[in-house]
Amino acid sequence: MKISGFGRVIDAELRVNFAKSNNIYTYLLPNESQMDRTVMVKGKEMIMLGSYNYLGLIGHPKINQAMKDAIDKFGSGAGGVRLLTGNHILNQKLENRIAKFKGAEDAVIYSSGFIANLAVISALFDKEDRLIIDKYAHQSIYRGCNLSGASLERFKHNDMEDLRRVLEESKNFRKKMIIVDGVYSMEGDIAKLPEIIKLAKEYNANLMVDEAHSLGVLGETGHGINEHFNIDVKDIDICMGTLSKTIPSIGGYIAGESRMINFLRHYSDPFIFSAALPPSDVAASIAAFDILEEEKDRVIRLRENIKKYRDGIKKLGFKTIEAPTPIVPIIIGDDMSSFKFAKMMQNNGIYVLPVVYPAVPKDSGRLRTCLMSSHTDEDIDTVLDNLEKVGKEMKII
Ligand code: PMP
Repeated sequence: MKISGFGRVIDAELRVNFAKSNNIYTYLLPNESQMDRTVMVKGKEMIMLGSYNYLGLIGHPKINQAMKDAIDKFGSGAGGVRLLTGNHILNQKLENRIAKFKGAEDAVIYSSGFIANLAVISALFDKEDRLIIDKYAHQSIYRGCNLSGASLERFKHNDMEDLRRVLEESKNFRKKMIIVDGVYSMEGDIAKLPEIIKLAKEYNANLMVDEAHSLGVLGETGHGINEHFNIDVKDIDICMGTLSKTIPSIGGYIAGESRMINFLRHYSDPFIFSAALPPSDVAASIAAFDILEEEKDRVIRLRENIKKYRDGIKKLGFKTIEAPTPIVPIIIGDDMSSFKFAKMMQNNGIYVLPVVYPAVPKDSGRLRTCLMSSHTDEDIDTVLDNLEKVGKEMKII
């Protein structure tokens, strides 16, 4: 049988074709321009309301220059895996930069955030161990747990009573680790880290935090979730983050104790068996960390935009999840209405996407709106006007 005859391929095809024929297919819009506060799609300018470019750093002249210089000096690819041949000196420079930024002993980089999660979890844990993850933790965390072979238990989202229950049940495992997202990518809320740390200490569990959406976003100066809660970073055993969101490049990192990082450099599969990042992407990340510390206004501006937009959403009467973050879900309900709402917004020049089951719980389909520091007041007003128009038309508000 041809692969295209497999049941799951046919099911997916039916769903996509159904959406297309009913004119509610919203995915894969072709962006013809730089990812910015607005983008060009099929020759039309749209306000971007779905990007992870939280601090608007894509296209920053210093980052572009750093990449160009690296390409001129070092060319395009890394030429091999880190452990053997692809260990360009810029890798170590970026790792030192990340460790300094996070206040950790050391850091190691991988070719993506997804890979970083797979790498660290599967290298450190196996079937004797118990991994305890928030129900809404990112898919890469879940997959990393599967790959490790460890016993996996999920606790209700951000529910400390339920976390205690699972920890209580996990007492007899050799090692145990709690894994949470700093900011949840579909909910936009923040992990209750101070309480989680207390429980981790009480039950002698390790703790890992995925900072994909909190790096550059949370904390007075964007240093992340530890700064937000004024927590000693040493209370987080594994700090994970990406270099593809606020840091506008590609890659992922793990920061923590130097002995653990040294272990990952010699025993984690993606470090050993997958090619290193190109030097130019690494150079872009280094430049971005410098800018994050130099241009503090960006974090302040993002916070102002979050407040203005969230106040507007509340005033209009939309259902959302409250938190001081730039990921603002607008809960619509059933899948069909979520697709339709997004399509109407797209037709009005707002680039926004729906998220439906199984990415979110059933009947809590939503628009996943994301703010950037580069959005202007006028952008936010235009978005709110359109949300009001479509919301009323669809009788959501
Ligand atoms: N963790 C979280 C919470 C994420 O949202 C993502 C990406 N959306 C990742 C990890 C993976 O990061 P990357 O895109 O760099 O592979």
